[in-house]
Amino acid sequence: MIPANIIEDLKFRNRIEDVIGTYVTLTRAGSNMKGLCPFHSEKTPSFTVYTGNGSFYCFGCGAGGDVVSFLMRAENLDYRSALQSLADRCGVTLPDDDAPVKQGVSRQRVLEMNKCAARFFRDMLFDPVQGEKGRAYLMGERGLSSAVIKHFGLGYAPDSFNALRDHLRKNGYTREEMVEGYLCQVSKKDERYTYDCFRNRVMFPIIDVSGNVIAFGGRVLDDSKPKYLNSADTPAFKKSRNLFALNYARNHAEKNLILCEGYMDVIALHAAGFENAVATLGTAITPDQARIMKRYSDKVIISYDGDEAGRKAADKAMKLLSEAGVEAKVLKMEGAKDPDEFIKKYGEAQFGKLLSGSRSRFDYKIDGVKEKYDLTDSDQKIRAANDLCREIAETSSRIEREIYIGKVAKELGLTEDSVRHDVAQAEKRMISKRKQEKKGELYRVTSAIGDRVNPDSAKYPKISRLEDTVIGMLLMRPEFARKASSLLSENDFMTDLNKRFFAFICGAAENGGFDFGQLSESFTQDEVSRAAKYRADRENLKICTDAAFEDNCRLLKNETTARREKESGSTSLAELIARKRNKNQ
Ligand SMILES: [Zn+2]
Repeated sequence: MIPANIIEDLKFRNRIEDVIGTYVTLTRAGSNMKGLCPFHSEKTPSFTVYTGNGSFYCFGCGAGGDVVSFLMRAENLDYRSALQSLADRCGVTLPDDDAPVKQGVSRQRVLEMNKCAARFFRDMLFDPVQGEKGRAYLMGERGLSSAVIKHFGLGYAPDSFNALRDHLRKNGYTREEMVEGYLCQVSKKDERYTYDCFRNRVMFPIIDVSGNVIAFGGRVLDDSKPKYLNSADTPAFKKSRNLFALNYARNHAEKNLILCEGYMDVIALHAAGFENAVATLGTAITPDQARIMKRYSDKVIISYDGDEAGRKAADKAMKLLSEAGVEAKVLKMEGAKDPDEFIKKYGEAQFGKLLSGSRSRFDYKIDGVKEKYDLTDSDQKIRAANDLCREIAETSSRIEREIYIGKVAKELGLTEDSVRHDVAQAEKRMISKRKQEKKGELYRVTSAIGDRVNPDSAKYPKISRLEDTVIGMLLMRPEFARKASSLLSENDFMTDLNKRFFAFICGAAENGGFDFGQLSESFTQDEVSRAAKYRADRENLKICTDAAFEDNCRLLKNETTARREKESGSTSLAELIARKRNKNQ
């Protein structure tokens, strides 16, 4: 099997919208892209490309998947040739099927070493003598509590050329591993000699969404340069594809993510209760990072420094984020240079107001309407009001709605009651239109391929819906695989297709990682399409927290157990007790 990281790399280099764009004319539709389906004939586009997660799904014929399965379908290629075609497009050489993969230092080994180093840095920080300087900065100067320091696993790299090196050596790590993992450097003067990369710095471990320490950032405590030093790319880390604190923020991203410039901003925000803050890793935001953010939220509030450099960076971030289909807003901060300083000066509540106050989009809309229509003409004024009421109807926050209603009433010289009434009407129309669309989708999908792809689902309607949910969440967050194997086994799935999906994903996750593209190796195109539908359904709902996943796993287990008992007709005492215990959990 081609390893997940190679497929992931191919997908990062071949954006799905670019590849599909050579077959289909795509136009932007909200945060996604739409076009006429190349796999069935249609006049209105129901073929959707989700640029955020690199997948496509056709609501007309149910075809779906990722860029790999798209090429297989469109060019009638087998799995291997589709990957080859992607590799050719970006000039990458695929590993030979038979040749052993050339192995330097493995990712797993670097991750283990990083964990060891993170513990060392933490112990140094809390060492009464060694860690004094680090504590003076983090606790004294920046005012962080020890709880916050522990939450982020912060540490201190002592002012020594060999402290970490000797510690790692004692723990069995080789010189090559330390150098490849960017913890030590080879001396330019004497190649036999290696020394620590991070010296006299407070250390910020960078943790991926699976909880692995993948890299470090270090801030210097004297005048040495650079002020911030970050790990270079290693077998375990690509700087352009990771975000600081995403491991925490992903569980608080329902409304939006806050994008900051530095580690300290993020930590200050989390400590103040804004746990949806992330930062890039010492560089300007990359397109990959924008797409990763889109995986977790449709909205990003950019909270950069207020200086000239910060404004320029915010402009660039706005552009990249909107290209990735994210609605980006910029926070306007006055009276402080960064979020950390702002919260220290004015408090958390005031920062919260700042966040909710970034309603630039509606103000922008009002300006646009005022330009478009002549408000002295009553016909045009009605149309202007309709436009704005529709916009308000799309807003889910009640408070925001009230504010906008007040604004529209004032701008157009109407009473608030009449605006409110029209907003309610617009909302009704919107909901019934969506329901119609949903009905159509469901009908089309189930009638076209429903029973053929997963024939068991008709027999177990309730259980198969739960299975679909669990698999959809697993596809959206492969990092849940470990948790999934501890909560469920293959036997908890009643339908054959979902059972196979479950076994495949968990198996791949254990053997070096899972990528959606790997499904195409072992499943038929219709089955891959079905997987794409599960994931698309989950993505649309945006609810994929650890807790929701566990709940669904537990529900599925209970339902399946009950069903099996019913089918076998008798229940042993032991089973009854086990089931009761399960329910009480
Ligand atoms: Zn289609």
